[in-house]
Amino acid sequence: MAKKQILNASNVDPNKILPMKYPWAREHYKNGVANNWVPEEVSMQLDVELWKKTGQGALSDDERRMILYNLGFFSTAESLTANNIVLAIYRHITNPECRQYLLRQAYEEAIHTDTFIYSCDTLNLDPDEIYNMHLTIPSIKEKDDFVMNFTQSVFDPTFSTEGLQNIQRFVHDLVGYYVIIEGIFFYAGFAMMLSLLRQNKMVGVGEQFQFILRDETVHLAFGTDLINTIVEENPDIWTEPFKKDLMGKIEKGVDLEIKYAYDALPKGIMGLTPESIEDYLRYIADRRLERINLPTLYNAKKNPFPWMSEIMDIRKEKNFFETRVNEYRTGGQLDWDDDQK
Ligand code: FE
Ligand code: MN
Repeated sequence: MAKKQILNASNVDPNKILPMKYPWAREHYKNGVANNWVPEEVSMQLDVELWKKTGQGALSDDERRMILYNLGFFSTAESLTANNIVLAIYRHITNPECRQYLLRQAYEEAIHTDTFIYSCDTLNLDPDEIYNMHLTIPSIKEKDDFVMNFTQSVFDPTFSTEGLQNIQRFVHDLVGYYVIIEGIFFYAGFAMMLSLLRQNKMVGVGEQFQFILRDETVHLAFGTDLINTIVEENPDIWTEPFKKDLMGKIEKGVDLEIKYAYDALPKGIMGLTPESIEDYLRYIADRRLERINLPTLYNAKKNPFPWMSEIMDIRKEKNFFETRVNEYRTGGQLDWDDDQK
């Protein structure tokens, strides 16, 4: 009988999900379902008023710049990750419980794409400006160009995961999608938008970013379990030069994200400086490296934004008379891995 493994298990029936071999895939699926949401559930009324406001109590130019940069980056990055899952990853992962999760993740990316359509519509932003920022803003373009290095398996229809070098290539791309894009490139934006939410500004967009952050935490957890399982099943791929290559790519990703943070927020806003975001990015990068069993790069042991972890732990429960998420989870439905924070 064919061995049930993640890659190159061509004799395994992709439609026979039970019995399951990888319970983690099922768990991430259920965590995704527990965070189910759609952008229209979140009122944009206060955001629209604040966005239009001039004079006393209006957003500062720095705050506006920071908001536009993040809408610009995320609006296209979300569909980029959706395309990667559907076109590059799904084809090579035949295990049914992993595929069930990938379908869930693709749906969540569609929800995220919808969030930025909703924001553009309600705030009456110029869609050409927002959706072209990945071309017109160099610090965003550099991030996008960098991730295009991780798409060999998308653009080459003959690519297969047979053989050591191809498995390395595939794992390299998975590290690009899950660890660098979803685990690092989204995090300066999360810190900026959620810091604004803490000041009670742009609370609708902030709440949507909060939901996205919780989804992305699960995507990252699935991605790292997937990577670690492939490495476990193919231990020969985990050579010193390969590990060095991955670490170099992660380091480059951190550099680009730091550059983006300084560009989006050159002077800082209340409670948030670009220097503190830089520290935060080094801290999370070290956690991501540990999660896939690589040595840390920055010796960053202290989280400068402990409130980010609190935000991930708050259960989605909304009081309909307020726009803030204000109830804490009571059950154990959502159990976020500590090392993902
Ligand atoms: Fe997403
Ligand atoms: Mn994602």
